Amino acid sequence: MPTLSALSPEVLAKYQPVIGLEVHVQLLTNSKAFCGCLNRYGGEPNTHTCPTCLGLPGALPVLNRRAVEFAVLAARAIGCEIRETSIFSRKNYFYPDSPKGYQISQFDKPIAAHGSITIPDADGHPKRIGITRLHLEEDAGKSLHDGFPDSSSRTYIDLNRCGTPLVEIVSEPDLRTPDEAFEYLTRLKEILLYTGVSDCNMEEGSLRCDANVSVMLRSDWNERGAAAFGTKAEVKNVNSFRYIRSALEYEIDRQIGILEDGGRVTQESRLWNNAEGRTFSMRSKEAAHDYRYFPEPDLPPLVVGPDWQAEILGSLPELPEARRARMIEQYSLSPQDAATLTATRAFADGFEIAAKAAKNPRRVAAILTSELTPRLRAQNLDQADSPVSLAGLVLAADLAESGDLSSKQIKQLLDSAFSSNEDFPAVYEREKPQQISDTSAIQAIVDEVIIANPKQVDQYRGGKKTVAAFFVGQAMRLSKGQANPALLNSLVTRKLDALGPL
Ligand SMILES: [Zn+2]
Repeated sequence: MPTLSALSPEVLAKYQPVIGLEVHVQLLTNSKAFCGCLNRYGGEPNTHTCPTCLGLPGALPVLNRRAVEFAVLAARAIGCEIRETSIFSRKNYFYPDSPKGYQISQFDKPIAAHGSITIPDADGHPKRIGITRLHLEEDAGKSLHDGFPDSSSRTYIDLNRCGTPLVEIVSEPDLRTPDEAFEYLTRLKEILLYTGVSDCNMEEGSLRCDANVSVMLRSDWNERGAAAFGTKAEVKNVNSFRYIRSALEYEIDRQIGILEDGGRVTQESRLWNNAEGRTFSMRSKEAAHDYRYFPEPDLPPLVVGPDWQAEILGSLPELPEARRARMIEQYSLSPQDAATLTATRAFADGFEIAAKAAKNPRRVAAILTSELTPRLRAQNLDQADSPVSLAGLVLAADLAESGDLSSKQIKQLLDSAFSSNEDFPAVYEREKPQQISDTSAIQAIVDEVIIANPKQVDQYRGGKKTVAAFFVGQAMRLSKGQANPALLNSLVTRKLDALGPL
């Protein structure tokens, strides 16, 4: 819900928003970060727990090797340098859904730092957004405030999520508009999905975002730069990129309004209420020293040496940006088609398999983007649930390429495939819309039409050449729409001309 600013464009233009994002991403490991419990969304509450993730006295954490590998993959995919020796720290705070009373995280020596993501700015030019750091940590459990008969008076705790491995990715305050924040998140999610380290499912909380936002006078920015950054507020745990954009638009307006009234922005955490389209103060924001970080005494330093790093990075896939560039080159695609086709790794893989098997990759791209994708969207289906297989896609593309099927016939067959939930080859075999390309067969039809319409024949012979279209139409109807149009046209004209002028 975009907020409609009450401030005039002139007032808004005086200020420069400054935005930084912190993104928490759950890793798709089988077990939790520091114990063998199942790492799985949902489940009967408090069943995926053990003494370690419950924080019982004497239980010791053991680091999950796969979580480290995923963190390294994610970090490299966003251009970070990997720190060979990183340190786990305790971040101390009390929270009902965190029974240990602290979170195992990384503080001054995170596993990775100094990355970047490139986004398009408002003019479409590439803009580099710095990534300060990526560190490993564990998730907390969940407080359930509703869904129970006595939810009005009680809060329930589910600790299944306790100890789920996370990476936190912190951007530099390089973002200047809510749209840039949206772009950054979209690209970050796309990259992470390509690496396969997370499902990035925002509804299930696998990807969560906090946004830091402040405003400053543009004149101050021009004179003093980052030294003149304003006081920031943090918008916590917004669960969709669109909501984050709306929350940032609201916050920017709110802060400018305060400054225009001569007030001061408070450093605090705020929550976005989407129904009301505004943010609310939650609590004053802690500073790092409030957490009393200290090195985790139960875990040794984490060492990811060159050999292990090389082994992990061997499975780093080609990333979306590079893949788009290559596919544009290799298959002569438009940038827009390349963007659509690389939306997910599976989709791009599917396209490339079909493109290599088909006669013309651009036909495959056209059918995939203009025919299949809209039909999938209309039925709310994922690519994986498409009734049309890759082999079906290749057949459709090849039949279009050879001219055996018109684009209209392809559309009709795809409609049948989707309505009967059958693959394209099966529908094609059954309905086989034939094109009659046999000269003698079409010739026979043309003869029949000419004999049946002597009046129109005389008109043509009298010089009214446009009557040819009438014969083509009649013959096409007789052929049940199956005559090859080009052949039919030429046979009709040839036959009529052969009769000579009146
Ligand atoms: Zn456990």
